[in-house]
Formats: sequence, C-alpha cells, structure tokens
Amino acid sequence: MKTEMKTAGWENKVRRVVPYTPGEQPKRKDVIKLNTNECPYPPSPKVKQALEHFGEESLRLYPDPQSLDLVEALADYYHVGKDQVFVGVGSDDVLALSFLTFFNSDKPVLFPDITYSFYDVWADLYRIPYQCQPLDDNFRLKKEDYMVENGGIIFPNPNAPTGLMEDIEVVEEIIAANPDSVVIVDEAYVDFGCTSVIPLVEKYENLLVVQTFSKSRAMAGMRIGYAIGSPKLIGYLNDVKFSFNSYTMNRLTLACGRACVEDEDYFREITQKIIATRERIKPELKRLGFLFQDSRANFIFARHETISAAELFEALKADGIFVRHWNKPRISEYLRITIGTDEEMDRLIAWLENYMESRRA
Ligand SMILES: *Cc1c(COP(=O)(O)O)cnc(C)c1O
Repeated sequence: MKTEMKTAGWENKVRRVVPYTPGEQPKRKDVIKLNTNECPYPPSPKVKQALEHFGEESLRLYPDPQSLDLVEALADYYHVGKDQVFVGVGSDDVLALSFLTFFNSDKPVLFPDITYSFYDVWADLYRIPYQCQPLDDNFRLKKEDYMVENGGIIFPNPNAPTGLMEDIEVVEEIIAANPDSVVIVDEAYVDFGCTSVIPLVEKYENLLVVQTFSKSRAMAGMRIGYAIGSPKLIGYLNDVKFSFNSYTMNRLTLACGRACVEDEDYFREITQKIIATRERIKPELKRLGFLFQDSRANFIFARHETISAAELFEALKADGIFVRHWNKPRISEYLRITIGTDEEMDRLIAWLENYMESRRA
C-alpha cells in the first residue's frame, strides 16, 4: 500500500482527498442493474428526435455560456424566473459548486450521518468544516439538530439511501430557523412521490433546491442537474461558475435537456410506472422477510430479518443481480435496491424465493 512508501517532499503540498466511490458500472451486459438508481426506461422520444436533428456542424462553436435554452425550459416548467435557475453537469456538479460558493464559513456545515456520501467528500475537498447530525433510530431527521449555529445546511429529501421523506412543514421549519445560512435541499428523488420545496424559494432567499435528470428523467448518461433559488443565490453561484469553467454544458446536452423538459407527459408516465412497480414489489419483499420503511424514492432500503446484507449482496452479484451495499456504521445490514422494470423486479423476487428455499434445504 501507498502508506508504506516514503512521502516525497512535493507530496506535502498536494491537496489529498479520499474520493467518493460511485456504484459499479459492470461491463457485462446480461446483468440486472439495480445498484445506482438509474431509470430502467429510455429517455423521452423527444430526446431521440433532438439527437437525430442535432447539427454536428454547430460543434465548431462554443456553447451558450448561459445555457439559456435549457434554463428557459426549466424556468417555464417550474414557473420561476430565468434568473432563478442554474444548470450544471449533473447535480454532482451543481452541488460541488454550491459547496464552494455557499459554505464559506468557520462554522460547521450540517448534514445527516446517514446521507448521500458525496457531501463529506466535497467538504473535505474544499476544507469546509462539517458536522454529521445523527438520524434517530428510525432514520428520521431530528429538526432540532439543524437549529444550532452552523455554516450551512444540506440534506436530501427524500433522504438517500434511506428513501424516507420528511414532511414539507419540517423542511420549512428548518429553512425558517436558518436565515443566516444557505439551506440546500437535494431533491434527486422528489419526483417519485414526495413534495418539492421549490415554491418556497419565493419566500426564502437562502433556500437552494437541487434536482437532477439522472433518475426521474432517465438521462444519467447525459449529465444534467440544476438548482432553483432566489436571483441572489443563483447570481452568486454563476459568479463562481464563471470563475471556474464558463462552458460546462455542451450543445448536444442543452438540446437534449430542453427536449426532455418539454415532454411532460412522458416524464409523468415513467415516474408513475416506477412508483407503481415499487408499491407492487413492497409486499413481495415483506413476504420474503425483508424489513423496510415507506420509501418515496426509486429504490427500497431494506434489511433481511435473518440473512446478512453482505451475504445477499454477494450471492445476488454472483448471479448477475447488482444492488448496493455499504460497509458503514448503522447501515451495514441494509441493501439499497433500485426499482427496475416489472420484469426485472419479478426476476429479483424469483431469485430471492429460490435462494431462501435452497438455504432452508
Ligand atoms: C444521484 C444523486 C445525486 C447526483 O446525481 P447526478 O447524476 O450527479 O445528477 C445527487 N444527490 C443525491 C442524493 C443522489 O442520489
């Protein structure tokens, strides 16, 4: 290992970080991929059209640094001003820039102990002090924990990887209690049956809501994320973006992103389908001995009453069914299972039935 090697002088001047580990993208094509919360359905047919009509000759030119085609489509969709929308290369890009822009204090940024595991990575990368606030025994957020002095607040709603939703009233109480900090609500999974706090950006100048095209809009491969907030917040975010990289969004992405937002019917259809599959699969998993709470996301975070998560994870993987497992305190007995197509979920259930049976024999 590296630690046994002598550190060269110059290495003391390197910004060293422990990177985020994304879920595996297996090379094999024959797997059932339920490990990174992608959408099992293709993007809108309008995106296909946009791809087909894209004129590659335009690639000669830089893209619009303001990304107006996409910003306008999102502003129309959410009934906010163009100066209230920021777009980036996936919400990871939007979130990373938001950490850099808004979390610039000696006081700790607050987020839950069980949450999106990129938050502490960005905080470490930028040397931002932070404090993890433990969720309660039922993995619920304790609002009082976010009513203490802080340098900023961030949490997903629904939370990841638990899938649990906090009521919009609780989220608003946290925002209202923190007029001296920026509060970021990461709504990566909001479209699967949770209420967005986007309407509250009119009321709270310090609220930034971040969403993504990667889950509910079936475009993880294109990399589009966005933030909605007050014109002041978005202005500060743009200042940092233009001090870093003016051209984050390429022409093809802007065209496809706009086409996607304009097809609301298809968006509703696929999110409803995923919700229906999730609800259908819940009793099946319960029958097989899984324990979990009410997920409002496109995944279920479950543990088994007798079989360890590590065992199930490995056995599933050996048979080409990929789910996510973290060897971390409090959640090491849980699997996060993305909701796939009905057929994929039926194959998962059949596999589990089989496994439980052969284990009993
Ligand atoms: C998936 C996810 C993101 C990042 O999504 P992008 O693909 O970068 O848009 C951000 N936050 C949470 C909680 C997520 O689960």
